[in-house]
Amino acid sequence: MIIHFKKGTDPARIDQLTNRLNGLLVHLAGDTRLITSSKIKSPPTEFADIIDQFFVMESDIQLAHKTYLNRRTIQLNDLTIGNGENTHLMAGPCSVESWEQIDQTAAFLKNLGIRTLRAGCFKPRTSPYTFQGLGEAGLEMLVKIREKHGLNIITEVKDSTHVDVVLEHTDIVQIGTKAMYDTSILKTCGKSSKPVLLKRGFGTTLQEFVQAAEFILSQGNTQVILCERGIRTFENKTRFTLDLTGVAYLKEFTNLPVVVDPSHAMGYRYGVPDLTRAAVAMGIDGLLIETHPAPEQALSDAAQQLNFDEFETMYHSLEPVARAVGRTIV
Ligand code: PEP
Ligand code: MN
Repeated sequence: MIIHFKKGTDPARIDQLTNRLNGLLVHLAGDTRLITSSKIKSPPTEFADIIDQFFVMESDIQLAHKTYLNRRTIQLNDLTIGNGENTHLMAGPCSVESWEQIDQTAAFLKNLGIRTLRAGCFKPRTSPYTFQGLGEAGLEMLVKIREKHGLNIITEVKDSTHVDVVLEHTDIVQIGTKAMYDTSILKTCGKSSKPVLLKRGFGTTLQEFVQAAEFILSQGNTQVILCERGIRTFENKTRFTLDLTGVAYLKEFTNLPVVVDPSHAMGYRYGVPDLTRAAVAMGIDGLLIETHPAPEQALSDAAQQLNFDEFETMYHSLEPVARAVGRTIV
């Protein structure tokens, strides 16, 4: 249940009700809201005088649910994500590998008209013996790239050792498929005002996924983007299975912008353009696509990154698909 209080309510009574219901007080854009477990279906009658409105919720998808609020948008400098009119294309290599590699990629994307560069510096690898990312040195390169090319930057956090430094420098922070269960990362990002792109864990139900978003929202940061990047199924010919049915669910029942990442779902470059068009045809708020100047030499996710020619061909094929569903690629 989400409770709105009458203006000027004595904070002591709000505290009493919070304790009584074991709830969480949330401060959202100057307003105080009390959020309780969704199992509670009505407020105690003796507090009726301080309650302006209350929303009974079906599950603990609460702040993110469409029945509470229809739409939440993200402001990325001059760009609005999630307004139902555009599909924001974020692209770049899996990892920052060198100045030349990231500079070349930024120049290529900028020239196509793409406004947000995505690249990882703190990589959550499945083996300790592979490239782990350039860490802070990579982040410094991204900061310089942003200045040089005038692009927005999105980069990921993988654990709590570097959340603060990433939050300080990036325009959007990405929380990856493995880090999405880390409530300390979620809460720290929730206390920030930076937009957060939260990826769905590959073994995560939609309920668990959106509840992870609730950890961020309930700390006061309402700029949360949900990202479907493939889930693990019995199928092993492809790296993961892109859950577009899940995307339909998220669009129908949540108020958060939905982004699709076909690169990590597919795992191989051959399927990425088709999956991208399929996702755009659903009317989504954004895309995350991996591209690299020489994918075969990439230090992470080499098999799935598009080379620049492949990326450009795919990019030009998106506009008519987007137009057919009333969207513009930005
Ligand atoms: C990535 O975006 O490069 C990445 C590691 O993604 P995921 O967390 O979806 O595996
Ligand atoms: Mn990757």
